[in-house]
Amino acid sequence: MLDARFFHRWMTAAAAAVDREAGRLTELDAAIGDADHGSNLQRGFTAVAAVLEQDAPDTPGAVLTLAGRRLISTVGGASGPLYGTLLRRTGKALGDAAEVTPAQLAEALDAGVAAVAQLGGAKAGDKTMLDALLPAAEALRESFAAARAAALQGALDTVPLLACKGRASYLGERSIGHQDPGATSSALLVATLAETAA
Ligand code: ADP
Ligand code: MG
Ligand code: MG
Repeated sequence: MLDARFFHRWMTAAAAAVDREAGRLTELDAAIGDADHGSNLQRGFTAVAAVLEQDAPDTPGAVLTLAGRRLISTVGGASGPLYGTLLRRTGKALGDAAEVTPAQLAEALDAGVAAVAQLGGAKAGDKTMLDALLPAAEALRESFAAARAAALQGALDTVPLLACKGRASYLGERSIGHQDPGATSSALLVATLAETAA
């Protein structure tokens, strides 16, 4: 069973991973965007870690909902509202249970990913964070490790894609041959989930 402390540890691990990888995320965004993805997420997840430290909610749903709200209020770029929606909607779908099963998390994550797709209007293959999140949510039915592998593969598979949403889409064909920054950070988020569960 996964309790509020598990989700808190996941968010803290995500903040540390984003800190560590911020340079690489910004480099990827420099190639097909505006070179701010690493700093956007660094600001957001630092704020998430701080608010969870101050006010540790006592259910998994409340941890993710608070984290999502914090991302929306601190990240100006496209990724803030999208990741914020992912966490808020996943948290809402978990309800107010004190503990949840991995299967319940997989189902809730589906709702979160669907909300991202609705907000951003993107679908699989559009070269966005969804290309890591959709396969990860599916593979989470199997295991945390499978979800991590699927997200990583999904991020790598964005390289040959043509960007259809977000800033990268302004580049048209020139977006081909680069890994999507948001799919890369999504894979990082799923990897920290798997590490927290291990
Ligand atoms: P901005 O593009 O506003 O500078 P970021 O650089 O923080 O924001 O985030 C860029 C990432 O956001 C992209 O790599 C992509 O994965 C994701 N993204 C952008 N637009 C969308 C969208 N409409 N749907 C899903 N993801 C998107
Ligand atoms: Mg950017
Ligand atoms: Mg920007």
